[in-house]
Amino acid sequence: MPRTGSFLRLRPGSLGFHMVSCAVLLFTPLSSAWAGPSLGRNNALRIFFVDVEGGQATLFVTPAGGSLLIDTGWPGNDGRDADRIVAVAKKAGIRKIDDVLITHFHNDHVGGLPQLVARIPVGTVIDHGDNRESTDRPTVQVWQAYQELLAAKKFKRLTVKPGDRLPIRGIEATVVSSDGAVIEHPLSGAGQENAGCKNAEQFPADQTENLRSLGTIVSFGKLRILDLGDLTRDKEMELVCPNNKLGTIDIYIVSHHGWYQSNSPVFLNAIVPRVAIMDNGATKGGTPSAWDIIEKSPRLENLWQLHYSEEGGAAHNVAPDFIANPEGPDAGNYLELTAWPDGSFEVFNSRTQNARRYSAH
Ligand SMILES: [Zn+2]
Repeated sequence: MPRTGSFLRLRPGSLGFHMVSCAVLLFTPLSSAWAGPSLGRNNALRIFFVDVEGGQATLFVTPAGGSLLIDTGWPGNDGRDADRIVAVAKKAGIRKIDDVLITHFHNDHVGGLPQLVARIPVGTVIDHGDNRESTDRPTVQVWQAYQELLAAKKFKRLTVKPGDRLPIRGIEATVVSSDGAVIEHPLSGAGQENAGCKNAEQFPADQTENLRSLGTIVSFGKLRILDLGDLTRDKEMELVCPNNKLGTIDIYIVSHHGWYQSNSPVFLNAIVPRVAIMDNGATKGGTPSAWDIIEKSPRLENLWQLHYSEEGGAAHNVAPDFIANPEGPDAGNYLELTAWPDGSFEVFNSRTQNARRYSAH
């Protein structure tokens, strides 16, 4: 179960601030990790986990002013997902998205791109190469729309392969998977033999765009953040067996919205994240079996969820403080992670207006 902490609602400058502070000192253990959001963001990396109802849209804004959006959510819905992305971009003070990374050509990842570029300028779109799944109609449709945007020169296109470094200002981003291939050699500091591989369950090769997901490791100061899109368990095995090519991760953007076709035990036991953030929807992702594997991974301090998972029910959801959108009418609340170069970070829930701090390790 997640570790629970007490709430603080510190609002520096507000009338009740000093009174609340005193009350906190009297009644709250000093070790509490809950607080209002930190104010010092000048040298921080900000990552917004936009609620796109079981798709992905994750916006990185670097201290150098660079921006990287991983995926664009769904098409349709009157531009709901693009509107939510633009709203957090405004909060972060950016008027243009430098780079949009499309993990793969499924409609919950690339579907929102036409609506996004109609609302905010985009510099370059990074992809794994052409769509390879020609039998799935929604996939063919979003691929067609992508080609039309390219023909209209709405952005530049950059296709990358494992081992490439992404040209993002202010962070180091390395491609670890693309178009069905993974890095040949371990990343710096990684490569240890993985004892967990011996008796690990083997998985059949995925036949969709999912296994072609463009996965990246972002390094910022001492922190390592992993995003693999919807990369499936067969490819996870290639990344961590027989040697762990990735090493340990601090922040894991949960693959595939927390669906069971990703998130194998051998993988989670290799990357051992401190914090996992799951971009599930109310009825998409957050499979109980995958949730258990993530939640029980040996070093995990907290799992955060964009939504309460209806499938998970009482036994397979985190405490409400760690959920941006609980049961009931959907408000599109986001989570925001702020990271500092010393390795400390915090996660802010826009619904509760509270943040939880994590010290540098
Ligand atoms: Zn997906």
